[in-house]
Amino acid sequence: MELSKLLFSQGFGARRECESLVAAGLVTVAGSVVDDPWFEVEPAGLEFTVRGERWAYHERALVVLNKPAGYECSQKPKHHPSVYSLLPPPLRTRGVQAIGRLDEDTTGLLLLTDDGALIHRLTSPKHHVPKVYEVGCKHPVDADQVERLLGGVTLVDDPVPVRAAACEATGERTLRLTLTEGKYHQVKRMVAAVGNRVETLHRSRVGSLELPADLPPGGWRWVDDVASVG
Ligand code: URA
Repeated sequence: MELSKLLFSQGFGARRECESLVAAGLVTVAGSVVDDPWFEVEPAGLEFTVRGERWAYHERALVVLNKPAGYECSQKPKHHPSVYSLLPPPLRTRGVQAIGRLDEDTTGLLLLTDDGALIHRLTSPKHHVPKVYEVGCKHPVDADQVERLLGGVTLVDDPVPVRAAACEATGERTLRLTLTEGKYHQVKRMVAAVGNRVETLHRSRVGSLELPADLPPGGWRWVDDVASVG
């Protein structure tokens, strides 16, 4: 593939902008400046730099973001900055979108991709990807609440009972809850339905993908193993 075309595919701007980036000597491949926009490269596994920043070719963009509190999962946020503002311009230009949403005050694992089919598959109600939440509650958690969350609770405005796929108390006021659906405010509504109240909510896992322990709030990372997210 021509180098400028590859940069275009990775979100570095319009075709002309990518040609100019290369011609201006701002792109290196294998440690050397390449200033010929039509230089042929093999995309698979290609590592390159643009304005000194290191990148690797990804046919599909799939990234994990450690969402901080105070960010909205919307392209047009109403009250807080958007999670998309935490991503570098090439990922935004590629049009990555969140796979499902987290509330503004929820922290933790958020996946984003430019693969529409993947979003459709992972957000389909038929697709039961387990999502693990660490929940901080206002009141002490008791065995009865855990049992009811596992047995199924009915939410206001929703006649079909929902239940946690797994639930355990992890402390006096903390719960670990696994859901395989993604209804609106589901954790908060389920916890409220058993008489408690969510004070903090953090998503720690989706499928078999754990939020990397060394990823700081606001940081993002490529996910190379699509199968890990279901
Ligand atoms: N359930 C909620 O209530 N909020 C979230 O952000 C995610 C799941």
